Amino acid sequence: MPNDTQTNLRPATLLVHGGTQRTQFGETAEALFLTSGFIYDSAEQAEDTFTGAVSHYQYSRFGNPTVAMLEQRLALLEGAEACRATATGMAAVHAAMLSHLKTGDRVVASRALFGSCYWIVATLLPRYGIATEFVDGGDLAQWAQAMATPTTMVLLESPSNPMLDLVDIRAVCDLAHQAGALVVVDNVFATPLQQKPFELGADIVVYSCTKHIDGQGRVLGGAVLGRKAWVEEVLQPFIRNTGPSISPFNAWLLLKGLETLALRVDASTRSAGQVADFLADRPEIAQVRYPGRADHPQHDLAQRQMTGGSTLVAFELAGGKHAAFAMMNALKLIAISNNLGDSKSLVTHPATTTHMRVGAEERARLGITDGVIRLSVGLEDPADLIDDLAQALGNLPQRS
Ligand SMILES: *Cc1c(COP(=O)(O)O)cnc(C)c1O
Repeated sequence: MPNDTQTNLRPATLLVHGGTQRTQFGETAEALFLTSGFIYDSAEQAEDTFTGAVSHYQYSRFGNPTVAMLEQRLALLEGAEACRATATGMAAVHAAMLSHLKTGDRVVASRALFGSCYWIVATLLPRYGIATEFVDGGDLAQWAQAMATPTTMVLLESPSNPMLDLVDIRAVCDLAHQAGALVVVDNVFATPLQQKPFELGADIVVYSCTKHIDGQGRVLGGAVLGRKAWVEEVLQPFIRNTGPSISPFNAWLLLKGLETLALRVDASTRSAGQVADFLADRPEIAQVRYPGRADHPQHDLAQRQMTGGSTLVAFELAGGKHAAFAMMNALKLIAISNNLGDSKSLVTHPATTTHMRVGAEERARLGITDGVIRLSVGLEDPADLIDDLAQALGNLPQRS
């Protein structure tokens, strides 16, 4: 199916058909081009390929047909002009930022970022003479104040990891554009289905495909989406020459993951809502954070800019770290892992794992107390998940 006929298709259809390019053999499934290089019919064709006179694959660091199918499918799904896939989500964030920034530039970011994104902004960029400033993502006055100074790039994540705090993407994009900045949205927690950052004004969207897009805990991958001119002129030379390219094998698995993305995200979101409601009624739980619940502090914003409540739930045990560890250790079905977006439900204790390195002071600002657990809801029957959570809560030792 030619790609220019696909732009009117609905997401569930794009997830199955978007970007598919069949070979002359007419295979049903997407072909896996597990090849590092490509051959030319003649020395002249090789020359013409390198000058750009003809279009021909050269080397899988620059481009590969299986990877191109993934990029095209993601671009169609997101409504983006162009996409480049990368080896990991962090390679995507790094490439999106470092391809664009130079010494003397300025970056503003929301404080509530995935740990490695935080490190890039707080530690890596300043090494290259790039000024960086963090704001509380939910506070528009802080964004406005930060944008009073000319800014090159803005990085935000919404909902954030692990507390599921939201940023008003449209309002921040308006402020950022007045300050001259491009806005990069890390859209992992919302998935391409539950939030459309480009429609809210974003310039660049990044994904860790490791999460819901694979969705089965198998491979790492990432993607950067944006305008064609920016992707081809700014991002592509950086990727081509620095090499964060994704393996065609992993790209192929991600293509197959995308086919079931809507089914999986819908099922996990439904279950997450049920689990959040169950947890909110339990006396051992001090607080539940779920964008789909009316008691989320930014529920109105969630309803404005998201079409689903997310597959993740954060909750805080009244008994602190002791209770959180006891609960996690008592779970029989739900496993302890720092990953998320898997078909298997997973719990994480952010304060001692994913967010250990951000430090106690920063954790306190983000509300990541020692009692907080992040739950990534998978594809199990929600009644079994609730049974498991109930038995783990039922066996919590009394605090001495
Ligand atoms: C996992 C994750 C990343 C990093 O992705 P990797 O594939 O692990 O490199 C970045 N941002 C968010 C929000 C994530 O959840």
